Amino acid sequence: MTEQRRDTARGTGRDAIGQAWQELVETARRTVADGLVVGTSGNVSVRVGDTVLVTPSGVPYDRLRPEDAVGVDLEGRRLVGDLSPTSELPLHLAIYRHTDAGAVVHTHAVHATAVSMLVPELPGVHYMAGVLGGPARVAPYALYGTDELAENMLQALRDRTGCLLQNHGTVTYGDTLSQAYDRTAQLEWMSRLWLTASAVPSLTPSLLTPAQLDEAERKLRGYGQQPA
Ligand code: 13P
Ligand code: ZN
Repeated sequence: MTEQRRDTARGTGRDAIGQAWQELVETARRTVADGLVVGTSGNVSVRVGDTVLVTPSGVPYDRLRPEDAVGVDLEGRRLVGDLSPTSELPLHLAIYRHTDAGAVVHTHAVHATAVSMLVPELPGVHYMAGVLGGPARVAPYALYGTDELAENMLQALRDRTGCLLQNHGTVTYGDTLSQAYDRTAQLEWMSRLWLTASAVPSLTPSLLTPAQLDEAERKLRGYGQQPA
């Protein structure tokens, strides 16, 4: 087998990396376009075999070209590119080491971040909490880019595919970039829903019971078009 053939068989061929990088850049740009981050805030990663592609630190997403791809192994050693990886590498790698995630999205979405400043867990306001495995917990504050933040996040992610970072933002993961992104969008939407309902003076929003949330979570596993 040629080297390229062997790479492709492992899912780490140049084509696979190039394709994944393009999808990663599109996802990062979408976080800005959809108002989930401002400027170079937030970061995105995707796993291709044993390579984790990540957004570079502090580079506007609209400037990212195919040759700017940055890839590391699960220990953070550089495999692809020259730019410095995101400062949140510990957070991304912690998820790949502890779960079967294929992609991770971190944002500073405003409603979700506001919720992280008010409660230790987003209340069960809607059945879509099921897409995260249940109500999103808030990881206690730690400085951005630290192992401590990654550790706090892992605790908050227990049996969940998304959480909030106190006074900071959101983290979600999924099998694909589009699934991880959609989970972030749903988390932000549920945060906005709760803040909106809670803002009505002298009324208290109704919440779903744990049994209602469990029931919805099970049903969501069969939601939409299922493979034939
Ligand atoms: P990077 O530009 O290093 O990815 O940092 C952005 C961020 O959101 C840190 O928490
Ligand atoms: Zn951040």
